[in-house]
Amino acid sequence: MQLFSKEAMWDRKPLKDRYRIVIIGGGVHGLSIAYYLGKHGISDVAVLDRSYLGGGGSARSTAIIRANYVTKDGIPFFHQSLKLYQDLSQELDYNLLFSQFGRVELGHTESALYALRIRSEANRAMGVNSLEIGPETVKQMIPAIDMRVGKTFPVLGGLYHPPGGVIRHDAVVWAYGRGAARSGAELHPHTEVTGIRVDRGRVSGVETTKGNIDCDIVVNSTAGWCSTIAQMVNIDLPIVTMPLQACVTEPLKPFLHKTVSSANLHVYVYQTDRGEVVIGGAVDPYPTYSQASTLPMLETLAAHTLELFPCLANVNILRQWGGLCDMTPDYAPVMGEHPDLGGFILNCGWGTWGFKAAPAAGMNIAKLIATDKAPDIIRPFAITRFKEGKLVNERGGAPAAAVQ
Ligand SMILES: Cc1cc2nc3c(=O)[nH]c(=O)nc-3n(C[C@H](O)[C@H](O)[C@H](O)COP(=O)(O)OP(=O)(O)OC[C@H]3O[C@@H](n4cnc5c(N)ncnc54)[C@H](O)[C@@H]3O)c2cc1C
Repeated sequence: MQLFSKEAMWDRKPLKDRYRIVIIGGGVHGLSIAYYLGKHGISDVAVLDRSYLGGGGSARSTAIIRANYVTKDGIPFFHQSLKLYQDLSQELDYNLLFSQFGRVELGHTESALYALRIRSEANRAMGVNSLEIGPETVKQMIPAIDMRVGKTFPVLGGLYHPPGGVIRHDAVVWAYGRGAARSGAELHPHTEVTGIRVDRGRVSGVETTKGNIDCDIVVNSTAGWCSTIAQMVNIDLPIVTMPLQACVTEPLKPFLHKTVSSANLHVYVYQTDRGEVVIGGAVDPYPTYSQASTLPMLETLAAHTLELFPCLANVNILRQWGGLCDMTPDYAPVMGEHPDLGGFILNCGWGTWGFKAAPAAGMNIAKLIATDKAPDIIRPFAITRFKEGKLVNERGGAPAAAVQ
């Protein structure tokens, strides 16, 4: 298996004026779809990105992978994705550095513990390894955590999810890109889509900064920018773009062997293999397309982290960054063909939770395109759910990242 490749990952090819499928967005999702299309023998595919590949949310992700979601629709979908991730290094012949060291979500109140208990029952009923743990076990698993009583948010217990972990996010993007290119898809960075052409109720092509392209299918896989793409065909998505920030400390000797998340404190923390402590939290409470990071959020993240780990008080923050999240009202993604425009496939609404979903989303969107039928596992995520009042409601599945 390759750890690093000195060879070019994919060839640059001239942009053609026709492809069967155009995927807008060369992040982890767009590249994953292109890769799985290749498994169906579909190679007449172009992935277009206005910037470099994987430079959007995929480059900014803290790349936590887990399946301990809440709903009957979310749990099997994210479980499928986690299982695909487990074999992905072998499948793509690229070391993705997937470390499954387990995840603990903390309960600070009796009602939070009750919600975690229900979640662990739902997870286990659907085959996801997830169990409620008491305060002693929390301390045993996370020795550095502050368990003092009398704090505003005392640690009363938690939800332990053994298969949860983190992955090397850029490597996933590169490996999917290489896999897609090997099966014949073309990757075109620095090619911005500026318009989508429609003919008799179906998409017929895209306009780009490098010329027009005819095609039968357009996939909108642009995450934080998905509403701007949909507006090119006069479709208003029920999606709001909000920023999410994270930061990382200087490297420390290993002291934290789980990813730790707190819904009440809106913070999650883990230590990388290099020793840095990665800290993330909730989306900023306003919509914007700015990816700038802010001092107030850094202060919030630091203060909330110190509630759990006062031992980090004198540690330096090395970097802070922000990215865009395409938030849906029910904290669940949108996948499937738009009912009002033939050939316009939506793969968006990935919010703060999309990196972990890329394998399952790519596989199922590819299957939808190959068979012209949405696989059962993604049907609940159709955009029609908003009109039909059949919301998925995964808010409880992304608790630390939910709007404060
Ligand atoms: C700080 C942060 C931390 C996160 N942590 C996690 C986590 O721990 N776990 C998790 O599962 N998820 C996490 N996420 C969410 C996850 O990163 C995203 O949901 C995921 O990366 C989205 O991937 P994507 O391929 O759909 O979109 P992106 O990677 O954003 O790719 C979309 C691409 O579309 C391109 N584009 C936009 N407009 C156009 C146009 N007009 N023409 C051509 N191209 C265009 C952009 O340049 C971009 O490259 C996090 C996000 C952030 C910001």
